[in-house]
Amino acid sequence: MSAKIIDGKKVAKLTRKEVRQDVDDWMDDGHRAPFLQVVLVGTNPASDVYVGAKTRACKDVGIETDTMRLPDTISAKELKATIQELNEDDTVDGILVQLPLPNHLSAHDVIESIDYRKDVDGFHPMNVGRLTVGQPSFRSCTPAGIIELFKHYSIPTKGKHAVVVGASNIVGRPISILLNKESGEYGKATTTVCHKYTKDLTQHTISADILVVAAGQPNLIKPEMVKEGVVVIDVGINRVADETKDKGYTLMGDCHFESVKEKASWITPVPGGVGPMTVAMLMKNTLLAAKNSIYPQ
Ligand code: NDP
Repeated sequence: MSAKIIDGKKVAKLTRKEVRQDVDDWMDDGHRAPFLQVVLVGTNPASDVYVGAKTRACKDVGIETDTMRLPDTISAKELKATIQELNEDDTVDGILVQLPLPNHLSAHDVIESIDYRKDVDGFHPMNVGRLTVGQPSFRSCTPAGIIELFKHYSIPTKGKHAVVVGASNIVGRPISILLNKESGEYGKATTTVCHKYTKDLTQHTISADILVVAAGQPNLIKPEMVKEGVVVIDVGINRVADETKDKGYTLMGDCHFESVKEKASWITPVPGGVGPMTVAMLMKNTLLAAKNSIYPQ
C-alpha cells in the first residue's frame, strides 16, 4: 500500500479563502480590518521565515499586521510593559510573540502577560485550561489545523488509538487533548502521549491507528515502528544539512517519509503538510479575536 497524501497546502488555501470571505463580510458590515501584532525578539533565521509566512498570509486574507522587532537585550520587564501597551490598545486584536525567545526570557512569563482574549496562538494558560475542560478558547494553531485536516479528508478518529510522539505545550499535549476530548467523529480517540523518557517507543507507535509525531527528530519514525494502514501526521520541521541545496539544508519531518508512506493509509508530507495549516488557523483565530467570538464583551 502507498499512502494517500494529506495535502495541507491545498486545505490551507481553502481555509484562507474562507477567512478572506469572512473578513470581507466583516468589513462590509462597517468594521475595520482585523489587526495582528507580531512581536519578534532578537534574530533567529527560522523565526524570520515563520514571521514572513504569517505576514504574507495576513495580506492574502485581508488582515492587517505589523511586526515589532525588539533587541535580544530587552529585559523581561521591558518586554512585558510593551505587551501591556498592546493589551490596552483597542486597535490590536491579536498578539503573537514569536518563539523561541532569547534564553534570559521565560516564554511562560511572557505568554502569561498577553491578554488571553488577544492570545491568537492559544498558548496562554487560560486558553489551554479552557481547551482542556472543553470550553470555547483560542486553540493552539497547529493542533487545530490537524483536526481540520482530519475533517477535510473525512478521516474519523473516534474510537481509534491515537499515539502522539512529543508532549510539548504547543503541539503534543494540546493535540492529544483535542483528539481525546473533541466530540463527534474527529475527536474521542483513546490517546497515548510519548516523550523522551518513554520506554520502547515502538511498543506504542506500532499500535497506533493515528500517529502524530511532533518530536523535532528527523527520521525518528521508521516503517518497522508503524502498522499497515496507519494515518500519519508528521508535524516535525527539521533543517538537515544538505550541500546539494542552495540554502545548504533540506526540510524534513520526523518520519522517514519514503518508507513509512508504503505502510500508511494517509500521510502528511514535510513541507506542505501541517505547516501551512498552522498559519491558516492563525488567520482564523485573529478574525475570531477581532469579532470577540471566543470571549464576547
Ligand atoms: P519541543 O522540543 O518543545 O518538544 C518536543 C517533544 O518531543 C518533547 O515532548 C520531547 O520529549 C519529545 N521528544 C523528543 N525526542 C524524542 C524521542 N526521541 N522520542 C520521544 N519523544 C521525543 O518541540 P515542539 O513541540 O515545539 O515541536 C516539535 C516539532 O514540530 C519541531 O520539529 C518543530 O519545528 C515542529 N513544529 C512544526 C509546526 C508546524 O506548523 N508544522 C509548529 C510547531 C512545531 P520531552 O518532553 O521529554 O523533552
